[in-house]
Amino acid sequence: MSLATLFSPWASFYRPPLFALLPVDDPGLGELYHHLPYHLQPVDLLASARTILIYFLPFPPEVIAANRQQPDTAPLWAEYYVRTNQVIGQFNQAIAHWLEQAGYHAAWQPATHNFDEKTLTAPWSHKSLAVAAGLAVFGRHQQAITAAGCAGRFGSLVTDAPPDWLSTQLPPAPPPEPCLDCGYCWRVCPVGALTATGLDKQKCYSRLLEVAARFTHLGLCDVCGKCSVGPCAAWEKE
Ligand code: SF4
Ligand code: SF4
Repeated sequence: MSLATLFSPWASFYRPPLFALLPVDDPGLGELYHHLPYHLQPVDLLASARTILIYFLPFPPEVIAANRQQPDTAPLWAEYYVRTNQVIGQFNQAIAHWLEQAGYHAAWQPATHNFDEKTLTAPWSHKSLAVAAGLAVFGRHQQAITAAGCAGRFGSLVTDAPPDWLSTQLPPAPPPEPCLDCGYCWRVCPVGALTATGLDKQKCYSRLLEVAARFTHLGLCDVCGKCSVGPCAAWEKE
């Protein structure tokens, strides 16, 4: 069974997922630790770690359209955020079970809410790992943009399965498309947290908490996504 097949219980809710691998001795990880010295290493999660598997679950067009169509965060976007965090946990469980049957082990960090609320830094960054693996590039909105865009969620998992074997189990992802520098994201930011000169993370987080207060019935819904629905959301072709 391939990883894409393993995703089939959730496939109808997303565009096709993208996968990438990062061997634990990849030079890209050295660069990541240079920029994020507090970031955990794969062996901190699994002593026998050999590979990091990173994946992107792209939201479907109707979710992107919903968040474009109103000034506030759309309820459908909020629901997808909460639901996808759960799906990532469930998908990781399924991958871990599949790996166990092949004689390997796995460990992971949650999809989100593993960050320090004061410094807003996470000890395990799925987005930075996606960039290190060549699955994505950072855009001006500081989100990671893949070949399928940036509207979606990233997950990752550490395993002692060798990268060569794992690479036979997943479809290769197309290279990411770079940011257009178009300015959509900073023009649409409702609180001025994102500007042409950068991102004020504290201001952004305050906005996420305001949105969370609107959607308490969904669980912890600290999301906004207004900057993630521009031309790089899904690279829709005309
Ligand atoms: S909206 Fe435009 S400037 Fe902002 S990240 Fe996307 S492509 Fe880049
Ligand atoms: S998530 Fe919302 S508040 Fe934060 S930078 Fe993007 S548009 Fe602005």
